[in-house]
Amino acid sequence: MEIVKVENLSKTYGSGDHVVRALDDISFTIEQGEFVAIVGPSGSGKSTLMHLLGGIDKPTTGKIFVEGTDVYAQNEEQLAIFRRRQVGLVYQFYNLIPVLNVVENITLPMLMDGQKVNEERLEEMLHVLNLQGRETHLPNQLSGGQQQRVSIGRALINAPSIVLADEPTGNLDSKNGQEIIELLKYSNRTYGQTLIVITHDENFALQADRIIAIQDGKIHRDEVVMR
Ligand code: ADP
Ligand code: ADP
Repeated sequence: MEIVKVENLSKTYGSGDHVVRALDDISFTIEQGEFVAIVGPSGSGKSTLMHLLGGIDKPTTGKIFVEGTDVYAQNEEQLAIFRRRQVGLVYQFYNLIPVLNVVENITLPMLMDGQKVNEERLEEMLHVLNLQGRETHLPNQLSGGQQQRVSIGRALINAPSIVLADEPTGNLDSKNGQEIIELLKYSNRTYGQTLIVITHDENFALQADRIIAIQDGKIHRDEVVMR
């Protein structure tokens, strides 16, 4: 089943003499449960694509459908719900809220959504993320690897159908990076969550089902990974 459909998507920033064409008329589809790595040089448009897929930016032209919904045809309220329930975002620098502890950061999407926290699910999450005993720690009391595991918890707590990660291992050493890769792959395999990861790490990209290479705002290559 097709979960993402991108149609003639373009994004430009700025105006007049300072227009940057970050994405230039790209189209592709992604199947439910696929693990896709997005690669390409710095400035090629990868983060722009991720933000558009996550519902946190607006295309200049073109459309994105997620599970059949035209993402940017939704009103602000619908879009906010889309961001909390259908996608989970993981960033290079974690983007945790510094004054909230581990449990508060992880459960934030549920609380914002007016949902009661499912204690059983939270316990399981803390176990899978190896964060037991750290529940009341603040982000600045945690290592980089731990902070990224908290951000993965926050991305997964609402069981989104798509997990979007922008350089999730970019700030970590190889041991902590590999742990993050394993966690993302685990949620992809176990729950069939579609996983879309931007990475400069070739070893990580080669673990994907498919690699999309972006260059100058266009799809330069789109290949299935052979094993
Ligand atoms: P990548 O993630 O591949 O490094 P980006 O999507 O961040 O690429 O950027 C693509 C292009 O768009 C770059 O030329 C970048 O400078 C430009 N760009 C990205 N965000 C903005 C912005 N908010 N305002 C202006 N230009 C931007
Ligand atoms: P990891 O467990 O992710 O491999 P490290 O080996 O870097 O982490 O750190 C070991 C322990 O030291 C961590 O479990 C964490 O509690 C603590 N720690 C690491 N970095 C920091 C930091 N910047 N501030 C506070 N405590 C830290």
